[in-house]
Amino acid sequence: MKHELPRLPYAEDALEPVISRQTVAFHWGKHAQTYIDKLNELLGEKASEERTLEEIVKESDGALFNNASQTWNHIFYFFSFSPERKKEPEGALRKAIEQRWNTFEQFQQEFVGSGVAQFGSGWVWLVKDNEGKLDIIKTGNAGNPLTEGLTPLLTFDVWEHAYYLDYQNRRADYLHELWKIVDWSVVEKRYL
Ligand code: MN
Repeated sequence: MKHELPRLPYAEDALEPVISRQTVAFHWGKHAQTYIDKLNELLGEKASEERTLEEIVKESDGALFNNASQTWNHIFYFFSFSPERKKEPEGALRKAIEQRWNTFEQFQQEFVGSGVAQFGSGWVWLVKDNEGKLDIIKTGNAGNPLTEGLTPLLTFDVWEHAYYLDYQNRRADYLHELWKIVDWSVVEKRYL
């Protein structure tokens, strides 16, 4: 089975001005595409086996892990956004966030702070453990919480390629702006 990027559920310019059409074109169309092309190349004949992308992420290391995980991470990131979005979490997820961080705003602040604090390339994540407890973690390079037995709920990409065209070196500004396009109905579904 050759792995393929799904079609984005919105137009290339739908996330403007938070993420420009040009950044979506490069970040999804070139960077994410290159990871999945490289993944298929590395799998070679094994591409016909019935392992899912998630299974490869959990079971591999080296270049195979890097390209499989970067593919998974980018799909997860881009599918967290929508121009017709739910603006804030409700219900069980809202309650869990407020139990952990007191307020939704405090959670957002700590999430951005972790993304800013990640040295070099990587990702900041909202995750759930086996007992349903929430946490914010950061991973370097292609790192993925699935390999630590955690359930990812939301991620922001802090590789420079994610924001340099629109924000240059201003990573914190980019991370703050992303709250304007997160679709919390997607995150709620991941939580349940
Ligand atoms: Mn990226």
